[in-house]
Amino acid sequence: MTAVNAALTVLVSSRAVVPQAVSGSLVVSPATISISTASGKIVAVEHAIIPRDRFPADAAYVDCSPKLILPGVVDAHVHLNEPGRTEWEGFWTGTRAAASGGVTTVIDMPLNAIPPTTTIEGFQEKLAASRGQCWVDIGFYGGVIPGNAEELKPLVEAGVRGFKGFLIESGVDEFPAISPGDMALAMETLKDSPTTLMFHAEMECARHDGDSAAAAGDEDVTAYQTFLDSRPPSFETTAVQEILAAAHIAPLLHLHIVHLSATQCIPLLRAARAKGVNITAETCFHYLGLAAEEIAKGDTRHKCCPPIRGSRNCDGLWDELVAEDSCIKTVVSDHSPCTPELKLLPRELCSTLAPATAPAAASGSGDFMAAWGGISSVGLGLPILHSTAKKRRGCGKAPDIADMVRLCCSATADQVGLAHRKGTIRAGMDADFCIFDDAEVWTFSQGDVRWKNKCSPWQGHEFTGRVRETWLRGRKIFELGAENGGFLDSAPFGESITEKRFA
Ligand SMILES: [Zn+2]
Ligand SMILES: [Zn+2]
Repeated sequence: MTAVNAALTVLVSSRAVVPQAVSGSLVVSPATISISTASGKIVAVEHAIIPRDRFPADAAYVDCSPKLILPGVVDAHVHLNEPGRTEWEGFWTGTRAAASGGVTTVIDMPLNAIPPTTTIEGFQEKLAASRGQCWVDIGFYGGVIPGNAEELKPLVEAGVRGFKGFLIESGVDEFPAISPGDMALAMETLKDSPTTLMFHAEMECARHDGDSAAAAGDEDVTAYQTFLDSRPPSFETTAVQEILAAAHIAPLLHLHIVHLSATQCIPLLRAARAKGVNITAETCFHYLGLAAEEIAKGDTRHKCCPPIRGSRNCDGLWDELVAEDSCIKTVVSDHSPCTPELKLLPRELCSTLAPATAPAAASGSGDFMAAWGGISSVGLGLPILHSTAKKRRGCGKAPDIADMVRLCCSATADQVGLAHRKGTIRAGMDADFCIFDDAEVWTFSQGDVRWKNKCSPWQGHEFTGRVRETWLRGRKIFELGAENGGFLDSAPFGESITEKRFA
């Protein structure tokens, strides 16, 4: 382990993902990155390995070769649930999990904490609760709910990174769904603001007579298919059509679909974008790495909304990721944990849980319809994407490591108005890095879980690629295998990002 105390730190590797000088497109290149430890900023990037003796004797010189130096991951969709539902997750545990997986910035969603971030007071309470607890930098979204239109502009001024509204019930009472009228009002209110208006795009639509199994009550609620059938792709396409129908209200406002699952939305979004509508989408690691066919009876760890769909849908999402001018610009975790009790995980699946939590969870019924929806994965994104892409490369095109950096670092930073300081290895940017060993094969086990609740469909998965170190603003904060669980500081120094968006 290298002590890094000098005013200048030099980080070197035979392989780093850096923007090309002229085009700006990301490439894998040898690189020498000079960092000011005083400012925490990158001061210079050379696309070559500059030897140690070319730097002052007191500079710290760290050669990571052949491991990859990547920018720190910006996870633009994380639920940390504090204050109010801190037993589900919290700033301390959630940001430690992020830090251990190369994530240096998380953006917290406006719901599941109590109060939600739908008012200035709610935002201030959340900021106060986060103080001194964050191991990585953290930004915050605001929420759009019925009746809070007058809070939206003050929240923009207070530095929220964007807004989320639901077109279907959210699952928590304090964050109700918005009507088409509320959506139009939010667009009208935010139309000239430098922000992003995001939607949970599922909306119930008229059902056919043949779909009345739910009413009959004769279905098997422990079968994943029952849950999948209850939230069909038409819920997503209906919501997207509703949003597109209102988009003319705010032609300059960036609109964004969070956690896109159904590929049927892609042609709708592409057609709208071709006509100049300012709309993008994100998808999640679990829609890319898991498929409905593999989900065992009662394994409610896989429940999330919108649902993980079949493998053909998964193929379609991958195809869009590598397509020219893809409408899916980013990949995020949508880390959304809860307690094992609320997951209703059945006894036979509890062997994967920590002894302390297993007894409470053992009574679970495996009822997909009643279990809380949400998947834990913050900090696992790179291993999930890298291993799944590697497998897919055998049968077609898949994103390479530079694409992954675009999807998870630079484009996510852009999505939340932080592209001027996060997500790219360039002079002037925050010196946030993820040191990634793309060759290491490992199995994600109970001992690797750092979330508050050790319950995730990724437990037991074998990955290729592992985060070895994480650097935040010029300082190494995490090293796999080091003492204290890998955390090099005794106290966190992550910052709340409340600067107002200007783009
Ligand atoms: Zn959602
Ligand atoms: Zn979410």
